[in-house]
Amino acid sequence: MSKLVSVDPATGATVGEVSITPVSEIANVVGRARAAQPSWAKLTLTERRDLLLDAGKQLELQAEAVGEQLCREMGKPLREAVGEVRAVARMADELDEMVEALSPEVVDGGRAKSTLYRDAFGVVGAITPWNFPIMMPHWMVLPALMAGNTVVLKPSEETPLTAQSYVDALNTVLPDGVLQIVHGADDQGRALVDSDVDLLAFTGSRAAGISILTNAAKGLKRVILELGGKDPMVVLPGTDLDRAAAFAARNAFRNAGQVCVSTERIYVQRELYEPFLTAFASEAEKMVQGNGMDEGVAIGPMINARQRDWVLKQIDDAVAEGARVVTGASGHHGNFIVPTILADVSHSMSVAKDETFGPVAAVIPFDDDDQAVTLANDTPYGLGASVWGEPERAALVARQLGAGMIGVNRGCGGVSGTPWVGAGQSGYGFHSSKEGHRQFAQVRVLTIAG
Ligand code: NAD
Repeated sequence: MSKLVSVDPATGATVGEVSITPVSEIANVVGRARAAQPSWAKLTLTERRDLLLDAGKQLELQAEAVGEQLCREMGKPLREAVGEVRAVARMADELDEMVEALSPEVVDGGRAKSTLYRDAFGVVGAITPWNFPIMMPHWMVLPALMAGNTVVLKPSEETPLTAQSYVDALNTVLPDGVLQIVHGADDQGRALVDSDVDLLAFTGSRAAGISILTNAAKGLKRVILELGGKDPMVVLPGTDLDRAAAFAARNAFRNAGQVCVSTERIYVQRELYEPFLTAFASEAEKMVQGNGMDEGVAIGPMINARQRDWVLKQIDDAVAEGARVVTGASGHHGNFIVPTILADVSHSMSVAKDETFGPVAAVIPFDDDDQAVTLANDTPYGLGASVWGEPERAALVARQLGAGMIGVNRGCGGVSGTPWVGAGQSGYGFHSSKEGHRQFAQVRVLTIAG
């Protein structure tokens, strides 16, 4: 069986390898998932929760080791990698929320009583990216399992080891066939989409999302798609520029910009434009770049040469078309791209339109709030956004933006209990929160005459 080799993007060293699942084997894997599903669904919600709680404890015990593996495999700083594993392992609140979301609900209509059941679809195919190699599988796998589905996970070919560790930890407690993993790249993903699954839960690029939606339609399969973004930040008069600049640096450059809700476009009121650029550059220049295993490193490498070349080309094209490099002009090496701030960007440039997924921020001035809204909404994407300024005025601007998650004087993520949701071409369905968990279940209504 041929091997998938996992490579450290910081050093080029081999981190480990897994066996590639032959495309011809995927139907058998899904068949095993289907056979295991009825008895998994027969367990009560609290029985499933208790098993998964134990799995979380297993994972917590290995948090340091899996975090180190994640850091080596993907490149993010060790502290963030271990934090990602710990956040996944701490499942208790999420599981309780799922029990509540998925429990039957009785509606008394007087002459008859209806009960809403939230049943499993059957088998879920989960297909996930590499940028949060344990969190992204977890966000899809956990609600799918809690709803009584069995799951076949196809993680990114860039981070197979971390996903395997996650599945192994859960499988210390799950019955056989309830959670399986297949390894490989897009061909294995496509084969899973074409297989006998009932729901496809996908996180990744818009292009792959379109392919999955198209292919899933042939079998009328359900889909949940969490796709890319081109998140704007709007800086209005009255903004605390130091706070806004610190946020911009963190949110544009964390994980080397390889975050779906990275700040990629920043619109700044014209009078604040140059002072903001100065403060932003000073924050960016403080961020230490290097091997994520080294102490004090804030930014690691790009995941691979293909992604690095795409980002460098966007920078070069923007400069050739008239953008000004505020910081980050030189020093790129290996898979490392120095955090780059581009000023005087126009919306005809690729860097203002196409998802970068790298440590690059395009900064553009505006003259009034309406123009800021028009520019921020000039994108087919609609994942996250943030607006900075005096809270009431900022909230008015925020309500006119097309994104699914918008923060005022903070990042886009909502508080606990709210969904992770992309609008426009950033999402098709969503997950997390009671409403999100319910997307992994088929509602059935049983009505009994009174
Ligand atoms: P990708 O779309 O290239 O790959 C994601 C997964 O899909 C991989 O496992 C890949 O093998 C598989 N795949 C690719 N083409 C497929 C096809 N035609 N059919 C079935 N499977 C296929 O994305 P990536 O490079 O791994 O990740 C980066 C992208 O993910 C960015 O666009 C980012 O914004 C997005 N993302 C979104 C969220 C969110 O919550 N909205 C979170 C993280 C990442």
